[in-house]
Amino acid sequence: MNGAAAVLLCAGGSVRMGFDKLLTPIAGKNAIERSLDALIAGGAESIVFAVSPSTRAFVETLACPVPSRIVTGGETRADSVYNALRIMKDARVVVIHDAARCMVSPKTVRASIESAQNFGSGVVAGQVADTMIRLDGEHAVPLDRSKLIRMQTPQTFLFDRIKAAYETGDRSGATDDCSLYLAAGYEPKFVFTEGETANRKLTTGADWQLALATYARFGTGFDTHRLVEGRRLILGGVEIPFEKGLLGHSDADVLTHAVMDALLGAAGLGDIGRLFPDTDPAYESANSIALLGEVVRRIEANGLRVAHVDATVIAQRPKIMPHAAAMQAALAGAMHVSPDSVSIKATTTEGMNDEGKGLCISASAIASLV
Ligand code: MG
Repeated sequence: MNGAAAVLLCAGGSVRMGFDKLLTPIAGKNAIERSLDALIAGGAESIVFAVSPSTRAFVETLACPVPSRIVTGGETRADSVYNALRIMKDARVVVIHDAARCMVSPKTVRASIESAQNFGSGVVAGQVADTMIRLDGEHAVPLDRSKLIRMQTPQTFLFDRIKAAYETGDRSGATDDCSLYLAAGYEPKFVFTEGETANRKLTTGADWQLALATYARFGTGFDTHRLVEGRRLILGGVEIPFEKGLLGHSDADVLTHAVMDALLGAAGLGDIGRLFPDTDPAYESANSIALLGEVVRRIEANGLRVAHVDATVIAQRPKIMPHAAAMQAALAGAMHVSPDSVSIKATTTEGMNDEGKGLCISASAIASLV
């Protein structure tokens, strides 16, 4: 027990982003969930959510693993924090965090709490890398950036001090908690996040792109089917003229199977054997591109989408590359991406291995999801 209670601010508008930045999933979890995970992993033992009319319904259905309460956010950030502080009791330190800063690490949360326990406050801040200029009317005044820091969150304080600071201070002009803490006569202790550029607030499209890249997920897939006479050869949804075809319960499209397993692996949704068991007559002669469509439907239902797929077909014969563009188009269509997000390569095994002897065709794939 460290006596750390958190206030998670989920009440801000998303005017600059053009969509709801707090509720839109980033690789399966939205900013509120990601911030909550980091707060709890960093040591917060209870949570007060300050919500807006748009975030309330989501927060009410959230399964929070620690005791939690919900308050209505105010007109300003400071009003929202104050509404939360007024219902809190028994906390020793209070961790105040903006949900839009969802890339915060548990390590930073922990450092902020420890600083507050040792020194009364732990205000997370970043150094300034750009040259800074203050505009005084027509006049540009260079500032010494070595003396400037950027305020971030979490900001953690002894509960009694920050509550008093909010009660006595001028909340109307306060854009963070530290400014009220300062106005109450306290000297804040800062926690710097060098090397943790990810503690960015989701504000612009560039921040959103950074978040998507931060949480990109990868999966690999591999499959082999036996080459036999009397079967059609289907690879990547394309029928290839050849004297043999691949043996299997479905159409035995080994390339599409490897791609499906890569996607399922990246999404953490199992594998095709579990999803489409070959003991199920429903999948007899199944069109694997249609199964891929079902895999993508499940991935998208989990808030993810395909970013890129790279696959290699391992076959001695026939020649694959003349058909690669058609395969790219078929796979891309089922995955809702453009064909340049699908890469298809081919290799022989120089006559070695079962692929080289013409006994089978194999395929491997890697996929990324955002
Ligand atoms: Mg297979």
